[in-house]
Amino acid sequence: MSNRRTFLRNASLFAATGLLAGKGNLIQAAPVQSPVATSAKKELGLQIYSLQKELYDDLPKRMKQLKESGYTKFELAGYDKGKISGVEMAEFKKIAGDNGISIDSSHVMAPLGEGFIFKEYTKALIPQFKEFWKVAADDHAKIGCKYLIQPMMPQCKTIEDASLICEVLNVAGEIAKNAGLQFGYHNHNMEFERLLTEEDKKKEFNFFQKPGTQILDLFMRDTDPSLVVFELDVYWTVMGQNDPVEYMKQNADRIKALHIKDRAVLGQSGMMNFEMIFKQMYANGIKDFFVELEQMPDGRTQFEGITDCATYLQQASFVK
Ligand code: MG
Repeated sequence: MSNRRTFLRNASLFAATGLLAGKGNLIQAAPVQSPVATSAKKELGLQIYSLQKELYDDLPKRMKQLKESGYTKFELAGYDKGKISGVEMAEFKKIAGDNGISIDSSHVMAPLGEGFIFKEYTKALIPQFKEFWKVAADDHAKIGCKYLIQPMMPQCKTIEDASLICEVLNVAGEIAKNAGLQFGYHNHNMEFERLLTEEDKKKEFNFFQKPGTQILDLFMRDTDPSLVVFELDVYWTVMGQNDPVEYMKQNADRIKALHIKDRAVLGQSGMMNFEMIFKQMYANGIKDFFVELEQMPDGRTQFEGITDCATYLQQASFVK
């Protein structure tokens, strides 16, 4: 409401000073693409991966600019041995804090060695995963981070692969919990591929149904709700041929955070119904969302893209 009030106040100010004279329709003349209004900002989360290297050309200046756009919560990416893309975590937190930004979450993937995500988990890897997550959880606890999120899955071609992934997620979840953090899993589209469970083999699937159970549904089923939550990436959910609103309704007890993402700048592709997504997010009581942007497709900078995303959300009446 405050944003709408600000808009109306600005619109009448423009009208009173004659700035809209001769422009005809007041609504058309409103500064839709203008920089974000200066007061009564909504508080937005940002997955910093969105800015890629641009964030690091001048960290304090970038953070100040992000705060001005309304980004007040960060989800980190680039964790490696106590550093975020080469910056000591304590220093990163200090610069963020100095600019009024909190660090709420972090995407962290336990290394699999050569081959990275193309390899499958094995039982033999569990001890080294435990060691890794213990250090990662402690590092993040020190900076007051709330979530530790695994951003993707390794190879998952069989029911046995899915089952072992869930075991590893539970192990990581317990370590995070002991360090005072909430562990979570973030999806792409490949988690909506299907595997045939024993029950599926007995079922009849009609012409319009794809046989099998979605991998993400198996993760929901086989991870411990007291240890593992889910951060739903709404764009990748659509790319996985699912409706994020329906998926949030079905898994209201497990999905605790969202990635707000579109093909590029929010609201521009026409494939994402953000109004319904936000409505369901509030209905579910989800408080944490992070804007994410992949590579900008039009030659503009990532920073311009993420600023446009903020403008979109600041101006959207359905975002509180
Ligand atoms: Mg994402």
